[in-house]
Amino acid sequence: MGNQKEKQENNVVQLPSRCKAEGCSKKSERAEFCNEHFTWFKEGLVTKEGKKPLDFERKLYYFNRRKSAA
Ligand SMILES: [Zn+2]
Repeated sequence: MGNQKEKQENNVVQLPSRCKAEGCSKKSERAEFCNEHFTWFKEGLVTKEGKKPLDFERKLYYFNRRKSAA
């Protein structure tokens, strides 16, 4: 079903685009982010330009708290 992550490169014609988060070189999976940074984008930890928001550290703090609470 939908659980394959990165093993679909054999018959790709176009160059895969990369995640546009700063400092990330993973292949983009969703909305031009890799899976991890897409989650960050949804959580407001990265802007759609791939930059960190001004209150990144605060958001990351709460994001990590929520993740470990889940
Ligand atoms: Zn990324």
